[in-house]
Amino acid sequence: AEPILEVHDLRVTFATEGGPVPAVDGIDFAVAPGETLAIVGESGSGKSVSSAAVMGLLPSNAEVRGEVLLDGRELVGLEADELRKIRGNDIALVFQDALSALNPYYSVGWQVAEAYRLHHDVSKKVAFRRAVEMLDKVGIPDAARRAKSYPHEFSGGMRQRVVIAMALVNNPRVLIADEPTTALDVTVQAQIMQLLADVQEEFGTALVLISHDLGVVAEVADDVLVMYAGRAAERGTVRDLFFRAAHPYSLGLLGAMPRIDVPPTRRLTTIPGSPPSPGSISAGCPFQPRCAYTERVGERCVTERPELTPRPGEGDHEAACHLGRRPEVVA
Ligand code: SF4
Ligand code: MG
Repeated sequence: AEPILEVHDLRVTFATEGGPVPAVDGIDFAVAPGETLAIVGESGSGKSVSSAAVMGLLPSNAEVRGEVLLDGRELVGLEADELRKIRGNDIALVFQDALSALNPYYSVGWQVAEAYRLHHDVSKKVAFRRAVEMLDKVGIPDAARRAKSYPHEFSGGMRQRVVIAMALVNNPRVLIADEPTTALDVTVQAQIMQLLADVQEEFGTALVLISHDLGVVAEVADDVLVMYAGRAAERGTVRDLFFRAAHPYSLGLLGAMPRIDVPPTRRLTTIPGSPPSPGSISAGCPFQPRCAYTERVGERCVTERPELTPRPGEGDHEAACHLGRRPEVVA
């Protein structure tokens, strides 16, 4: 299918007193209606900054370059009021932290209704009816009554359902979910992911899922973008990542480094060291200081920045690594 959201060469730099600090250094992705793209990486990899850039939600010291096309329409550089018409309407965002997304002083039904009224010229009564309908759809039991309750009267999982109802109330074509289940226990996580999958099927929503939970990614994603230090390390289908991972960082995330015969774990495993900030990378591969494979390649890892390169015979699978062959077990 044709993508509904296309991001080309997205770059984000923050102006600080110490000079410009790059956070995202040229990434590309696209997602089609009804499909799920997962963006994966450690914290500080630029995945949340990228989604905030797509939503036009970065602070004013952020400079965004590149293209963000929503159904062919350029969002970068749009005036604030134009963006407000799109945000929450055509493209919506669900955060990890449901509590901070909700106002403690208003009933959840009121809040969902107001999200609707932001983009629809209807009475409060009509909007509240729409809110109850959405709360019911996301699985809030006895929605007509519970709509009058306040956020603190809900469990974490139920609150996240409310936030999802708020995000979906205007039928967005693209939903960006930034670690939507991280704060929840495993059973509730599975329920919320199932809810997102159901919604996606019913409305044909394109989903961008930002996650560090590879178990979730394996279950729901069609395509995966692995980010490291503000750049793409690897890009491909979910099968490419789980069966043909080509970047040592991806292998590390899969818990497969240095031994790839160990099955992937649910959570990202700890790779020794931490990611550099994109601004501190001078030349060479950003992953080099942590890479178990760099000795096989040699100087090139230090002197030459690897670009995303197609994997021969593997369709659209790409990796940014100088290793020609698929990495194998390091003895
Ligand atoms: Fe490792 Fe070199 Fe590949 Fe970077 S380019 S991931 S340092 S092997
Ligand atoms: Mg984040």
